[in-house]
Amino acid sequence: MKKRHIETIAIHGSMKVEKRENDTVVPGIEVSTIYEHRGGGYTEGDDKYIRLSNPNRTQLENVIAELEAGDHSAVFASGMAAISSVFQTVEHGAHVLVANDVYFGTRKLMWEFAEKWNLKVDFIDMTDLEIVSSSLKENTKLLWLETPSNPRLLITDVRAVSKLAKQKGALVAVDNTWPTPYNMRPLKLGADISVHSTTKYLGGHSDILGGAVITSDEELFEKIRLVQRVQGAVPSPRDCWLLSRSIRSFPYRMRAHNENARKVADFLSKHHNIEVVYYPGLETHEGHDIAKAQMDDFGGMISFLIEGGAKEAVEIVGKSKLIKAATSLGGIESIWEHRKSSEGEESPTPDNLIRLSVGLEHPEDIIADLEQALS
Ligand code: PLP
Repeated sequence: MKKRHIETIAIHGSMKVEKRENDTVVPGIEVSTIYEHRGGGYTEGDDKYIRLSNPNRTQLENVIAELEAGDHSAVFASGMAAISSVFQTVEHGAHVLVANDVYFGTRKLMWEFAEKWNLKVDFIDMTDLEIVSSSLKENTKLLWLETPSNPRLLITDVRAVSKLAKQKGALVAVDNTWPTPYNMRPLKLGADISVHSTTKYLGGHSDILGGAVITSDEELFEKIRLVQRVQGAVPSPRDCWLLSRSIRSFPYRMRAHNENARKVADFLSKHHNIEVVYYPGLETHEGHDIAKAQMDDFGGMISFLIEGGAKEAVEIVGKSKLIKAATSLGGIESIWEHRKSSEGEESPTPDNLIRLSVGLEHPEDIIADLEQALS
């Protein structure tokens, strides 16, 4: 059969109903934690116990793998559980490179756990290929990056970094939460692992916590599966069902997030109270050409520096009437925050940075709210 487009995969890649007369069109939520196996005992692939597998979870894993153009996926109870699973597959004593502008939780995970897991971590500027090249060591096993990064939307060349890593036998993992597979598929660019906080765009309605790891590397996937099943940070059948349901409209939501963000970034870039706008869709963004070469579109996230400091930034965020002052991202409602307050004092994020997740309200209403809050 001809390869399916992303919109078709999103709708028909999961939520399948077991074949029978007078089928329902939407599957149910299977809540049983156990399965009866009378004659013959267990066969490989059978559902046996809910922590190991569940039909709603399997459907979700299948659609996420297909969306990301990967062979395998494992879903988790949160994005952080998914991220942790990848680091836990790295052999003891290995060296790991982590981009210095990544989600604060990932940095914290390394600060708190890398030593306990016996990993040697260097945080580097992953956008600079010379730095990447000179930071790779004989025992470097994993490179971790985000592009666009959180919160400064720095762009890393995934193809080039993957090439350098391969020469040293290291794996590349990309946290693809911000671009999403609608805009970028890291495995197609040469990365080995794609990771998600499905809490964001895939869930899309600010009501599900979850994570996913996708890879086509069989051996690596076995290790991820082991962490998932043995450590047990798995999502409930209800959350899997709800996430599969949300994914059905994900490509259309994403298209609108992209469109609205483009308009909002354009407005912000002309505003006199704003010093810099970080949005890779703007031609003035220093990573624009690389973003264009590896992304189909630029996503729904924007960060910007206002004229002033933390006090002024907090005041502006408090003045919005439509845009919710909240953390997180990727929902249908626009939200923004003074990012440093959210990350804490040890955060390297600039004091005057506001992070905006552009939602699906009419773009003119979002811009009108920004206009009044920034005035
Ligand atoms: N990765 C990115 C890029 C994020 O923005 C977040 C959360 O904000 C996470 C991972 C963590 O995901 P979760 O909150 O689902 O654990």
